[in-house]
Amino acid sequence: DRVISAGADTEEREIEAALRPRNLHDFVGQRRVRDQLSLVLEAARLRGRSADHVLLSGPPGLGKTTLSMIIAAEMNAPLRISSGPAIQHAGDLAAILSSLTEGEVLFLDEIHRMSRPAEEMLYMAMEDFRVDIVVGKGAGATAIPLELPPFTLVGATTRAGLLPGPLRDRFGFTGHLEFYGSDELELVLRRSAAMLDMQLNSAAFSEIASRSRGTPRIANRLLRRVRDWALVKGLEQVDARASSNALDMYEVDSRGLDRLDRGVLEALCLKFGGGPVGLSTLAIAVGEETETVEEVAEPYLVREGLLGRTPRGRIAMPAAWKHLGLSVPKDSPV
Ligand code: ATP
Repeated sequence: DRVISAGADTEEREIEAALRPRNLHDFVGQRRVRDQLSLVLEAARLRGRSADHVLLSGPPGLGKTTLSMIIAAEMNAPLRISSGPAIQHAGDLAAILSSLTEGEVLFLDEIHRMSRPAEEMLYMAMEDFRVDIVVGKGAGATAIPLELPPFTLVGATTRAGLLPGPLRDRFGFTGHLEFYGSDELELVLRRSAAMLDMQLNSAAFSEIASRSRGTPRIANRLLRRVRDWALVKGLEQVDARASSNALDMYEVDSRGLDRLDRGVLEALCLKFGGGPVGLSTLAIAVGEETETVEEVAEPYLVREGLLGRTPRGRIAMPAAWKHLGLSVPKDSPV
């Protein structure tokens, strides 16, 4: 697995649970979403009602699960967690909805991956706090209406654009999480380091932050790799040099690029003269599946202005040449 992958494995989920901020005050960055959400929750508390349904969108690892836990905590309500892929039949959703208690917060991760019939059941549940349970099949099938207690749905999606309009419209509040700036990542790291009882100087924090791809989950993971390094090397205080040595060892470079990312850029610049080159040819050149290059490496490379996608194929941007220590050729397509 990649050190810089934004997804989390099982072991990591446990460590993450310990590092998670528990209230809006401790949640670093995302100022706009935090302020808006704070208002939504405060208003609901003053009215003595459950909060409006909330949709959180944005790339993995930016804090959607954390925010759903904070929403439940701030509303003093229990939290139920499930996900779109786990709900394949309308019956799966009916079972969850019918067991909710008043005011409960239901977090549905990857809500865009729920099956169609479940999605339709959710429309009614969100709007009228009611579901129709269908009993029997064919001509003899009957729908038995079931009242639900008021609840708050928190939906999370990495791709808000994939959500059907009718579902999107039923959320009273939508918050889009952005990648974090270096200053914010440093704050996340300072908080985590204090909890992990680590001593780092300021330069070490900024070194790790600059390699963290704007993502708190990655920042926390890199911090743990640096912690391993410090332990093995017997360092009490970690400086920028120790951090960069540790992360170099994991092949995460100064911009947060790993071996796969650099392999793609090197192939693009050195084998194909900067492109344009088709995605499948590029994937063969780096010995990876097309999907891996497209879904794992490219989004960050595009976001960093290192790689461009054009109708004629992938191209290296001037920053890519510079990052590899090469000069931009005169006939570069950009
Ligand atoms: P996924 O969709 O992949 O589950 P996510 O967006 O739900 O990702 P979280 O699981 O909420 O991300 O966060 C990942 C880790 O990053 C957690 O350990 C959490 O502590 C940390 N984190 C996320 N956002 C913040 C933040 N704003 N402040 C401090 N820590 C944060």
